Amino acid sequence: MTHEPKLRVTGLHKSFGPSRVLCGVDLEVPAGAVVSIIGPSGSGKSTLLRCVNRLEEADSGEIFLDGACITRLRGKSLDAVRRRIGMVFQQFNLFPHRTVLDNVTLAQRVVSGTPPAEAAERARALLARVGLQEKADEHPARLSGGQQQRVAIARALAMEPEVMLFDEVTSALDPELVTDVLDVMRRLAEGGMTMVVVTHEMSFARDVSDDVLFMDGGVVVERGDPATVFTDPSHERTRRFLDRVL
Ligand code: ADP
Ligand code: MG
Repeated sequence: MTHEPKLRVTGLHKSFGPSRVLCGVDLEVPAGAVVSIIGPSGSGKSTLLRCVNRLEEADSGEIFLDGACITRLRGKSLDAVRRRIGMVFQQFNLFPHRTVLDNVTLAQRVVSGTPPAEAAERARALLARVGLQEKADEHPARLSGGQQQRVAIARALAMEPEVMLFDEVTSALDPELVTDVLDVMRRLAEGGMTMVVVTHEMSFARDVSDDVLFMDGGVVVERGDPATVFTDPSHERTRRFLDRVL
């Protein structure tokens, strides 16, 4: 019996030109855990997520999935590992000229070669899971932002990922649309999905996370269980940030 976390990041460094964006970030996410990442704009949160699923190449440091190093995979093995890590962005980026159902099935059909009928069946089940079974044949423009974001989550889930990365997925939504998206994420967490959630929704981070990381200036300033980080942070920088956002 090992205790290797589902996802482990060690000593990650990333610069863009002269700007040092990640300065030695460590992250551990046990299987089935939810880790939230909070911190001011520009602190490197998105870059960290993008490095984890290899959209961005880290300058140094390592990324492990189930104990296997994925930092330098290329080609087909990189494609395979990317399928195991789903990501949802602030901008949902649905294909506007495709139906909701097509948006959810497309990657399965193109990337995995799943037969259309099977892909459609799975997509309908996923749409039901995010409360949008009625919208399968609509086009994205007919949906609210919150509904579009739930479609984007269903699309990511269609690849049957083992880890889901969420990058401020409710930040572009009108306030009244945020709850439905957070509810979907909460249920996903309860279902045992391993999740890394970059968010400004502090009550979600507090209620749903097993661990909270506070990032500032490319480093993890503080990490701990949410009750401690939110009510009794050890670092002045965390305290100042929370004073501003809570
Ligand atoms: P956060 O998500 O915490 O707001 P980001 O990871 O998006 O932070 O960005 C951290 C810093 O890295 C910012 O100063 C941003 O301008 C810079 N940055 C991010 N991506 C790039 C890029 N592709 N090229 C140059 N600078 C970038
Ligand atoms: Mg960001």
